[in-house]
Amino acid sequence: MMLIAIPGWLKKLFAGWIWQMPVTKNTVFLTFDDGPTPEVTPMVLAFLYKYQGKATFFCTGKKAEKQAGILQEIIKNGHQLGNHGYHHLDGFNLKARKHFENMMHGKRITGSSLYRPPYGHLWPWQSTLLKKESKIVMWTIMSYDFDNTLAPDECLHNITQHIKPGSIIVFHDTEKAWPTLSIVLPKLLEWLSLNEYCTDIIPG
Ligand SMILES: [Zn+2]
Repeated sequence: MMLIAIPGWLKKLFAGWIWQMPVTKNTVFLTFDDGPTPEVTPMVLAFLYKYQGKATFFCTGKKAEKQAGILQEIIKNGHQLGNHGYHHLDGFNLKARKHFENMMHGKRITGSSLYRPPYGHLWPWQSTLLKKESKIVMWTIMSYDFDNTLAPDECLHNITQHIKPGSIIVFHDTEKAWPTLSIVLPKLLEWLSLNEYCTDIIPG
């Protein structure tokens, strides 16, 4: 099942996690998970630069520690770094302590207090410990850019029909997502500017 927009009851049930941002303007929050990827992330940065977009990059510590140059580019361009754990582990299968340690390992490398659990998988009893060290950042809209059976125009439409001020949108700066992302990202950035939306980073 594709769950594009997170339902309101879920956001209310887990109100201690960030599902959308409070805004007074037409601002949305682009996020990129699972990078940095040398073949993809620099091109994402180039698109963002071209359209004056801002974004938050939820990097895994394991990839980030090998890509210091890309991390610097992300910061230099005014974007934000987020932590996606050291390994991309499934929180549903982890003990609370192990989930915390994987988060902390990623935090030491990315230097970020914004944590997005891989797959968004997190038990409420793990979250108590994690929240002592990080803000838990989930999302409003999942792009499914990694799903190669989804046509890019469909992917774009799924996003634009659900977008609201404060929406947090998930993309992936990975080679798997790039065939779709490379088409959808510039089109979305154009759509946003036509519809008088701006983009911003999630504050740390
Ligand atoms: Zn991920």
